[in-house]
This record gives sequence, C-alpha cells and structure tokens, in this order.
Amino acid sequence: SSRHVVSASPGGTSGTGLPGQPPELTALFECPVCFDYVLPPILQCQAGHLVCNQCRQKLSCCPTCRGPLSPSIRNLAMEKVASTLPFPCKYSSSGCLLSLHHSEKPDHEEVCEFRPYTCPCPGASCKWHGSLEAVMPHLMHAHKSITTLQGEDIVFLATDINLPGAVDWVMMQSCFSHHFMLVLEKQEKYEGHQQFFAVVLLIGTRKQAENFAYRLELNGNRRRLTWEATPRSIHDGVAAAIMNSDCLVFDTSVAHLFADNGNLGINVTISMC
Ligand SMILES: [Zn+2]
Ligand SMILES: [Zn+2]
Ligand SMILES: [Zn+2]
Ligand SMILES: [Zn+2]
Repeated sequence: SSRHVVSASPGGTSGTGLPGQPPELTALFECPVCFDYVLPPILQCQAGHLVCNQCRQKLSCCPTCRGPLSPSIRNLAMEKVASTLPFPCKYSSSGCLLSLHHSEKPDHEEVCEFRPYTCPCPGASCKWHGSLEAVMPHLMHAHKSITTLQGEDIVFLATDINLPGAVDWVMMQSCFSHHFMLVLEKQEKYEGHQQFFAVVLLIGTRKQAENFAYRLELNGNRRRLTWEATPRSIHDGVAAAIMNSDCLVFDTSVAHLFADNGNLGINVTISMC
C-alpha cells in the first residue's frame, strides 16, 4: 500500500514566531488552567490532557475532562518536542523579549527585569506587587510605621533585641536621591541557633544598586564589627540574602556584646562608587 504524503506548500503558512518555528507549536503546551506552559516533566490525564505541574498539585481531577489525574502518565514525546522549542519568558506581556529552552526558563524568570516587584518588607504577610515606581507609594501607604532617616550616614537603632522568636526591624534611609531599606532580622536559620542578619536593599533595579556601596558597623565597648557590600536590589529581596548569608551575620552573644539595655545601634553608611 502506498502512503499518502502531503507536503506544505511554499509560503502557505505565515506566523510571527522565530524563523523556522511555527508559533502554534508552543501553543500546544499551554496549560488550560493558568495559561503558562506545561513543561517537562509533562504528565497527562488518562485521556491524554495536559496540565502544568503547579496547577496539577492543586487539582483533584483533570480540568478538561474531569477524569482522574493519577496514576501519573508521563508524555515523553511531548517532553522531547518541548526540548526542541524556545519558550517565551513568563513576563513577555510586560516587555521581555527573551525565548529560552525550558530548562533555562525558571532561572531567567527569577532575575527577569520585567518581573513585577513584590513588597520588600520582610515576612510574607504583605502580598502586594507592582511596578518599581509604585513601591515607595505602597510603602508610604501600607507600611506607615516604617520610619525614614535622611542622609548617607545614620544609626539604625533596633530596640528590644531580646524579644523572643523571629523578629524584623525595618527602616528607610534616603540619600543620593534614592531610598534604601535597612533590615535587621532575628531568626533561627539552624535549629536552636538564633542569629541576626542585617542587610541594605535599594528600592531600585540591580543595575542601579551597582552604583552604591553600604557599610554596617557595630561599634562599642572597644569592639568593632564591620560589613561592606553592594546593596541588594529589592528585586532580589531579603530572604535570598539571608539564605546565602550575603549580609552582616552575627549571633545573639555578639549582639549582647554591642547592645545597650537590649537596644542595638547599627551605624549605616551608604556611598556612591
Ligand atoms: Zn497551570
Ligand atoms: Zn483529561
Ligand atoms: Zn524575561
Ligand atoms: Zn507591603
């Protein structure tokens, strides 16, 4: 028997995708729930419908056919196709023009400059997110209790450092026409071992942050402890700095060496470089 082969006519298809890539192919990978892409490992329902792994964890049945999602059936053919395609960045609608291999997408999106800014206040209680320009108005509206000091050389006074449990001290410093957020966090990164983490964040992009340096200094009782670094952009946030210990780190006994009546003064100096 002879097989019927249909060849695409030249110029018969048009699209706005990359050269050689039909745009409709990536559309096949759209999650029906969140419209993000379904990327490897690709799991299907028993009838063959796809849903992304994040949505899948929240669902009890297939959003397309209501059939069972378990046992998981892997779709290796779709995974292979996915590995040959560049997928647009999640923030393409905000202006990012990058398309990437699916394995590189999460890392890029983590640092994508078009990613919306989240509220820089430590602790996960505030769910606000928006543009960089909207961050300061948000802080002034929703976090009125945060005080601001003007000048490049200030003292960040953390009161009651002996308060039990995880505690954050936050204040703002304004200088060089920019706003900086100073954060002191007390937490148990390792069980039974309380530590203090102090860091300075710029309300600005990573690129803007590279123009500055900050110095934190504990000083007193004939002792001095100093940390100097580039401020972090609020795009990276406090949690990542603490996770990597990329900040001034000291334990409670060091804090007591410098504290006065349970209050700890940290000298903060910001400079341009
Ligand atoms: Zn989804
Ligand atoms: Zn289904
Ligand atoms: Zn991007
Ligand atoms: Zn907030």
